[in-house]
Amino acid sequence: MRFFVRSAVRSGVLALAAALPIAGTLPIAATGASAAEVNVYTTREPGLIQPLFDAFTAETGTKVNVLFGKSELVERIAAEGANSPADLLITVNVGTLKRAKDAGITQPVVSDTINANIPAQYRDAEGHWTGLSQRARVIYASRDRVPQDEITYVELADPKWRGKICTRSGQHPYNIGMFAAQVAHEGDEEAKAWLAGLRDNLARKPTGNDRAQAKGVYAGECDLAVGNTYYMGLMQTNEDEPEQKEWAKSLKILFPDAEGRGTHVNISGAVLARNAPNKDEAIRLLEYLTSDEAQKIYAEVNFEYPLKDGVAASEIVSSWGALNPDPLPLADVAEAQARASELVDQVGYDAGPGS
Ligand code: FE
Repeated sequence: MRFFVRSAVRSGVLALAAALPIAGTLPIAATGASAAEVNVYTTREPGLIQPLFDAFTAETGTKVNVLFGKSELVERIAAEGANSPADLLITVNVGTLKRAKDAGITQPVVSDTINANIPAQYRDAEGHWTGLSQRARVIYASRDRVPQDEITYVELADPKWRGKICTRSGQHPYNIGMFAAQVAHEGDEEAKAWLAGLRDNLARKPTGNDRAQAKGVYAGECDLAVGNTYYMGLMQTNEDEPEQKEWAKSLKILFPDAEGRGTHVNISGAVLARNAPNKDEAIRLLEYLTSDEAQKIYAEVNFEYPLKDGVAASEIVSSWGALNPDPLPLADVAEAQARASELVDQVGYDAGPGS
């Protein structure tokens, strides 16, 4: 709690609040702070992650102080250096986790519990990051216009889909992850040809987020769109914006290569900060997040897939069909990301079809 009890650090928290688009700030500590606590920096939405912290605190009595921010949190922790109050960084995408490791702000976690709960393909071999939940990058297909119930990655570049596919920017980390898997599996040249084929099949210049692509299918602009699984659940249950329920109703999910090499998945995950002041508590929280109870919360609250064996996906998620995840280690996906990003530029993906 050292960064709250010292006034200099309190002003540091204020400076942080001014510098970052923060949805909430670390709560000011209650007095007499001898109770155990752990400081988490996260890019995750409060509504998704807070229930997990509340459950951990209820079970252990350890307080979780949370700083909600955006992707600059890696650089923030690097800039804070040895004085960083961060114990854990919890974020999404293996690319960001690798970036944290490469920036030197992490330390390895040695935990038999985590190693037992999280399959090795979703962890850094040296223990610098671990996955906590998974999402698949899938195809949203029009129920009315797409009769088939299966699809392959190769097929996405087939001219039969000319002008029929919507995606967001090829440089978005979600697409870079998917393209990197293609690079890792097929090699540079094949991946490049495939990417050019997919570009030619685009209905429009890449724009908007994943949900905007679902809307494109609903509106008849495209027959197929690329999106993450959990957005389907978020659209299906969106009481605030009921039009999203209509978009979701017009779609079915196709899991690419379900019968082949498996569907590309990415993770939400965490790193232990190199200078974590509450290292033991941080590891305890990480271990908790891989437990049956926490994995169940991940599954129910955000329509993500649990990583721990034996924990079921939610009813809504299960209704989309079975996920057969690509067994490629996510470290290999992370490794291929830079190359994937170059290929996106080389084929002019973001300039759209016919470029
Ligand atoms: Fe997302």
